[in-house]
Amino acid sequence: MQPNHALGATLVKCRMYVGNVHGDEPVGREVLIKLANWLCDNYLKDPLATLIVKNMHLHILPTMNPDGFALRRRGNANNVDLNRDFPDQFFPNNDEINYRQPETRAIMNWVKQEHFTASASLHGGALVANYPWDGSRDQSKQYYGCPDDKTFRYMASVYSQSHYNMSLSKEFKGGITNGAFWYPIYGGMQDWNYIHGGCFELTLEISDVKWPKAAELPVIWEHNRMSMLNLAASLVKGNLSWRSREFLDCQSYDPAKVYNFIQTGVHGRIFAADTGHPIPGSLTIKGIGSEIRASRTYGDYHRMLAPGENYEVMASMEGFRTKATRIVVEEKAVSLDFVLDRDGANGLIRNDLGCPCDDDKLFHVQGARLELYLFVLFIIIALYVLFKRKTTSKFTIHRHSPKRPIAV
Ligand SMILES: [Zn+2]
Repeated sequence: MQPNHALGATLVKCRMYVGNVHGDEPVGREVLIKLANWLCDNYLKDPLATLIVKNMHLHILPTMNPDGFALRRRGNANNVDLNRDFPDQFFPNNDEINYRQPETRAIMNWVKQEHFTASASLHGGALVANYPWDGSRDQSKQYYGCPDDKTFRYMASVYSQSHYNMSLSKEFKGGITNGAFWYPIYGGMQDWNYIHGGCFELTLEISDVKWPKAAELPVIWEHNRMSMLNLAASLVKGNLSWRSREFLDCQSYDPAKVYNFIQTGVHGRIFAADTGHPIPGSLTIKGIGSEIRASRTYGDYHRMLAPGENYEVMASMEGFRTKATRIVVEEKAVSLDFVLDRDGANGLIRNDLGCPCDDDKLFHVQGARLELYLFVLFIIIALYVLFKRKTTSKFTIHRHSPKRPIAV
C-alpha cells in the first residue's frame, strides 16, 4: 500500500509485515489479510488508516511459506525451517545466498531492494513481542542485547501495550522478551534483517493457539489491530500524536486510545554541498554500533530511536567530511537533513571555474592561470616602462629646448 504520488512516495518510510513463516502458524496470515482489508475499507474514513496509507509504504506478505501452510507443517516443501535458514552472524559458514531456500532468498533480495525501516514477522504458539538478538555468541540462553536494544525494547512495548492482553503476560514481563533470553536460535530472519538490511525487525508471537477455530479469528484480529496500526504509525510523522511516556506507562487496553499513536526516530536526507545532489551516506548514532544507509536515489534515511533521549547523529560518506549534530527525540520524530562538504584530500573538488576536477587537475588549472597572470603583469610593466621612457624623453627635449625663439 502506498500513497498515490510519485516523488513524495519514494521518500516515505517503508515497513513490512510478514506472516506464516512457519507453515503450521497460520494466524499471522489471516490477521494480515484482515489488516490489508481494514486499511482499504477505512482509508479516507479513519484518521489512522488515512495517515498510514498516505505517509508510508506498507508491504504486507501474508504468507512466506505457502507450501508449509498447504502441508500444515513448520518447514517449506523441502521441510526446511525458514526461520533457521538465514545467514547467521555467529555462524557465518555457508553465507552464499544461492544455497538458501527460495523463500529465504526472495526475502533477502526484497529487504536489500526496498530499503525497509522496520518490519515484523508474525508467529503463533505464544503471546509476546520478541526482539534481537535471537542468539548469543556462546550459544547459551542469556539476555543478549543488540546495539539498539533500548529502541527495540521500546518498539516491542508499543506492540505489547497496544495489545488487548499481551502486556499482562505472567511469563514475559510487559509482554516483551529478548530472543536469546527466551531461547536462542540461529539463522533467523530477525537478526539478518537488522544487520544486513538496517531494518528493525520484531518477531511477534500473536496467539497462544497455533490453529484456533475460524470463529476466533475476528477476536484475535481485534486484539492485535491497534498493536499493528500503532507499530506501523510509529514510523510516520503526522499531526496526531500521543505522549510516548504515557503510552509506555499504560498497563491495560483502553479503547479510547484507538486513534493515538507515537512517532519516533530521526528522518531526513543527505546531500552533497557542491552539487546539491542526494548521496547514499551512512548515519550513525554516537554510542550505538549499528549503521543506517541512506537510499542511493533520494539520499533519504529513516532511523528508529527510543524517545526521551539526547542523541549525537553523524552523517558520513567516503570522500566527504563527516558532520555531526545533537538532537532530542521526544514524542515526535525529528527531521534532519545533512549537507556534506567534499573532502579535499581524497574527493572531487568543485573549483571556481565551475568544473569538478580532482586535485591533480586542479593543480594544473591553477598553474595555467598563474602563467596567464604573470604574462599579463609582464605586458603591463612593459607598457608602463615604455610610457615612462617616452614621457621622460619628451620632458628632457622640452627642458633643453629654448622657451622663446632665438632672435637672430
Ligand atoms: Zn514460528
